[in-house]
Amino acid sequence: MKMDEKRLIQRYETVRTRIARVAERAGRSPGEITLVAVTKNVPAELIRQAAGLGMKHFGENRAQELREKYQHLTHLRVTWHFIGRIQTNKVKYFVPICQYVHSVWRVNEVMEIQKRAERLDKTIYVFVEVNTSGEESKAGLQPDQVKAFLSQVLPYDRLRFIGLMTMAPLTREKSVIRASFRTLRELRDHLEQYNKGNVEIRELSMGMSNDFEIAIEEGATYLRIGSAIFKSE
Ligand SMILES: *Cc1c(COP(=O)(O)O)cnc(C)c1O
Repeated sequence: MKMDEKRLIQRYETVRTRIARVAERAGRSPGEITLVAVTKNVPAELIRQAAGLGMKHFGENRAQELREKYQHLTHLRVTWHFIGRIQTNKVKYFVPICQYVHSVWRVNEVMEIQKRAERLDKTIYVFVEVNTSGEESKAGLQPDQVKAFLSQVLPYDRLRFIGLMTMAPLTREKSVIRASFRTLRELRDHLEQYNKGNVEIRELSMGMSNDFEIAIEEGATYLRIGSAIFKSE
């Protein structure tokens, strides 16, 4: 076995153990948490190995990179997630590959995904990205804009809006990170009463390598973890 693969196994096991431990401590079942392995800058060969180890969900944040790598990975029985900034002219690259999109927050993106998914007779599961930190550089809707946004997307039946996504601010202050995740959870709890049609907000996509334990404590159901699994020292 190659050294790379050994290290990958170790890192994957460590992450899984940490997830299970925190979930248990928080009174949650690890089974309700989906690990999305984020493969930006990870070569196709390593993704193949990761799939061989049992990773089932993979996320990419650049449409073109995903498209190029996917050509070498079409045989894998895994689920792809698009998690990055959406450029309308690149929606056509990820819709054929992905089942999930985590980063939707504009109606024109919704329209383009609808159009592409319709042509492929496909359903796309969508998270609405929310800016819970107030940082101007961050993508996403302000929390108080999400309800109105969801009322606008009902006609786009190729998309099922299953949850909310956020990125915590870049800080070491755990209380600040926690507040960001908590905002997302409380928003989800509030919005559930308005679910109807293709709007079924239930899931929370939050937590990355440096903050996933806090995210689990705050109710994350999808974790997006890259460097903790793939980054070599
Ligand atoms: C890169 C990325 C991640 C994973 O980040 P890590 O710190 O490597 O775990 C998660 N979500 C998004 C949107 C990303 O771009």
